[in-house]
Amino acid sequence: MTLVDHATDSRTSALEDAHAQLAEAVAGLGYDEGTHAMLSKSRRELTVSIPLRRDDGSIEVLTGYRVQHNISRGPAKGGLRYSPAVTLDEVRALAMWMTWKCALLDVPYGGAKGGVAFDPRQYSTAELERITRRYTSEILPIIGPQQDIPAPDIGTDERTMAWIMDTYSVSQGHTVPGVVTGKPLSLGGSLGRASATSRGVVHIAKAALKSRGIAVSGATAAVQGFGKVGRDGARFLADEGALVVAISDQYGAIHSASGIDIAALSAHVDVTGSVVGFGDADVLGADDLLELDVDVLVPAAVEGVIHAGNAGKVRARIIVEGANGPTSRDADAILASNGVLVAPDILANAGGVIVSYFEWVQANQSYRWEARDVEARLEERMLAAWASVNELARTHDLTLRAAATRLAVSRVTEAHRLRGLYP
Ligand code: NAD
Repeated sequence: MTLVDHATDSRTSALEDAHAQLAEAVAGLGYDEGTHAMLSKSRRELTVSIPLRRDDGSIEVLTGYRVQHNISRGPAKGGLRYSPAVTLDEVRALAMWMTWKCALLDVPYGGAKGGVAFDPRQYSTAELERITRRYTSEILPIIGPQQDIPAPDIGTDERTMAWIMDTYSVSQGHTVPGVVTGKPLSLGGSLGRASATSRGVVHIAKAALKSRGIAVSGATAAVQGFGKVGRDGARFLADEGALVVAISDQYGAIHSASGIDIAALSAHVDVTGSVVGFGDADVLGADDLLELDVDVLVPAAVEGVIHAGNAGKVRARIIVEGANGPTSRDADAILASNGVLVAPDILANAGGVIVSYFEWVQANQSYRWEARDVEARLEERMLAAWASVNELARTHDLTLRAAATRLAVSRVTEAHRLRGLYP
């Protein structure tokens, strides 16, 4: 299968976007340069080499990162990404966004992120296990249930989390389920965690549609990415009566004006590994998906896909960011002036970290909640955050992203202020 080649002009980096968003929030809040500097720097960054014995006996050395952006509100929390596109700067940006997300949703964590720069699809299961265990042992000194708690992200899953938990537990001499979230259910994972990000995306999509006077039943949607977030996101949107007319992955895109059968597409992807070749839909240019005339566009793949070069062509009424950082700061300005409502990543995809928090609480208490409790508490937190972000946006004439970032930054700064500066 060949990868889609995307034009890379007109793009800013994720770190540039994250810094610009922070600078705007700091200016709006009237904070001084010292506070700005404290918020913009990672608290801790670790780069590690991961020597791997490949199945054929050869040795390869991969590079991994773990960045803890801020821990003023609690232990660091953030996903682990396996992708050839991983860089230290990307991990820094993602860690910063995690800080804001946790503060915005008021979960007692700081922000972190990890990554290893390689393509997991090119490695065997045994190799993936060795990479994960060696990466874990290299970052061992800075992770733990009270220090930093990884979770799945692009290219990782519950099996990866099980290997991390086991490696960490072996080093401690006893089982430590709270060191990761997104674990398999049989190892203390939470009911509802696997689909939590997608559920949260759909709670926000419904709230955004309502705010624009559009009924969810019959609303049209396009979803970029058919992984952990996009697949269930498309499913839940269809369950709500929306018509999911286009879906893409890294290999291509498909379109059907009458709506794609998500269950049938899932079965196709389980067999072939891609949405490409699905019988009951037409082929669509991968980037064309972003420019479809739909009610809701859900980018649920990678950062920077909506940028200065294509933002003016976006015809969706609403964008709900399942992915982290899919919209660049230049694109944000264009979308705002064109009246496109953007539900920002730190709000829209926060369902994952909310239920990760629930999983961590359950692990620390050795207790399991019912799925209905998890889902009800998830919805309550998502909608409360939606309401407070909208209120701030309305009263201060801000975009939802500017309001969400401002709210989050003020909470993190308040924690710094109350704790004081050591020594
Ligand atoms: P994943 O690896 O499970 O799936 C990624 C999907 O995106 C795959 O279908 C892949 O083929 C597709 N993709 C990659 N590049 C693409 C491109 N250029 N165009 C179209 N499709 C492309 O990853 P995931 O966990 O679903 O994460 C997706 C995004 O959501 C990331 O930005 C991640 O940081 C964010 N996110 C994930 C979670 C979570 O709980 N997994 C939580 C919050 C945010």
